[in-house]
Amino acid sequence: MQELTHYINGAHVKGTSGRFADVYNPATGEVQARVPLATPDEVADAVEKAAVAQVEWAKVNPQRRARVMMKFGALINEHMEELAELVAREHGKTIPDAKGDVQRGLEVVEVCMGAPAMLKGEFMDSAGPGIDLTSMRQALGVVAGITPFNFPAMIPLWKMAPAIVCGNAMILKPSERVPSTALRLAELFSEAGLPDGVLQVINGDKEAVDTLLDNDTIQAVGFVGSTPIAQYIYGRAATNGKRAQCFGGAKNHMIIMPDADLDKASDALIGAGFGAAGERCMAISVAVPVGKDTADKLVAKLLPKIEALKVGPYTAGDDVDYGPVITAASLERITSLIASGVEQGATLAIDGRDFALQGYENGYFIGPTLFDDVTPEMDIYKEEIFGPVLTTVRADNYEDALKLVMDNQYGNGTAIYTADGDTARDFASRVNVGMVGINFPIPVPLSYFSFGGWKKSAFGDLNQYGPDAFKFYTKTKTVTSRWYSGIKDGAALNFKALD
Ligand code: NAD
Repeated sequence: MQELTHYINGAHVKGTSGRFADVYNPATGEVQARVPLATPDEVADAVEKAAVAQVEWAKVNPQRRARVMMKFGALINEHMEELAELVAREHGKTIPDAKGDVQRGLEVVEVCMGAPAMLKGEFMDSAGPGIDLTSMRQALGVVAGITPFNFPAMIPLWKMAPAIVCGNAMILKPSERVPSTALRLAELFSEAGLPDGVLQVINGDKEAVDTLLDNDTIQAVGFVGSTPIAQYIYGRAATNGKRAQCFGGAKNHMIIMPDADLDKASDALIGAGFGAAGERCMAISVAVPVGKDTADKLVAKLLPKIEALKVGPYTAGDDVDYGPVITAASLERITSLIASGVEQGATLAIDGRDFALQGYENGYFIGPTLFDDVTPEMDIYKEEIFGPVLTTVRADNYEDALKLVMDNQYGNGTAIYTADGDTARDFASRVNVGMVGINFPIPVPLSYFSFGGWKKSAFGDLNQYGPDAFKFYTKTKTVTSRWYSGIKDGAALNFKALD
């Protein structure tokens, strides 16, 4: 069995705790590796070494730091197939989807290649008599990134690239379910010329995370994961005086207006609801058709499309639509939520629970599931299911649909399908959600904008990647300077006659 490592000071280091987590192949249910869970001492040692490396790294001029990003980006492109395979093997997503995972992380690295322009600071000449003001952006020091299982490449890259290009050192604690991609990315970063110690990958669980949260050297924490953990980490980091941004879970709605193109809307719902087995924080999990006629027609269009979806392991070819969910526990949670939906009176239009695939009986597969007639009191509406389950909540009119989205505790993403610009504008302006799609199902902003939800989908300030990341990973220092008149006024420059 493969034993994974930590990555400290540019080298793979074996764990010493004697504690390990199993890393599964979700398609077969087999344990394919074990990952060490770091002790507090191992974490503290990695942080100490990072602090030494950071001092020198921050002195490297921003353009040279950006050149490391250029090389890193080129290496990611060169190793795209290998990275996608690593992602798929531990996560279970299809190869095309895994390439998207790497690509959306790479795009953030590409923006970091332009870091000098983002780190320039501000200057005001003659703010008072002889007084100038300069505001500069300086690195924080050592920062921590704690990432979830569902994007093994993209989210570690969202954390490490902006933090490092700003002159910080990063301790990355990837999800213990999918640790291999982050370890490989760390190797590529070293190959790109990143000095040893600037990126340390520490594998671990709650014990390692808590050690980071209580470590005085750690200046900032960037977290992505479920809402209860995001809220916990935000609270503990903030109490310890750290800068923290913690992104949590989601329940994303798509409103379908009576004037929407239902072919396009239903296609969009299939991709956004079932892609990556619904394990995306921007997945659409609630369809909100407006009016009975729209709802009946939409469900009629969805049924054959959902039934045609192909579920299987990533090794079965690129026409597989989605793979298994991440763990047996996750599968169990999803099937019990489906049972609760039936008990609580929703109409189960398609039941994916009895899905079986020959040769993969122990894999964590579940077929696509569609609920109709869901109401806000039901658990399948209240809980983030994080599986291939699309629920339909019917609304009588636009205002009711909008209110449903507004009243939901989460505010990560949402979308509206309509042919009417006025409705679309009204929705974008009024809805209390961080990322909005208009005739666009998964509105993840491109890398030169920034990503962040509202309400219980994010704790702390500023979004991740894009211009906000350069603010989050630097501190502003403002210098007010005055130079009294000196030699200029006192010097006699005229051609004087001799006394
Ligand atoms: P998770 O919260 O279980 O784990 C995330 C990270 O926190 C992991 O590294 C894990 O080791 C660590 N962790 C888990 N329990 C902890 C504890 N008690 N104390 C300290 N650390 C702990 O999340 P997950 O299951 O890996 O990921 C899925 C969740 O992430 C979903 O809720 C999804 O919506 C969310 N997500 C959000 C975004 C976003 O940007 N808003 C993006 C992707 C995923």
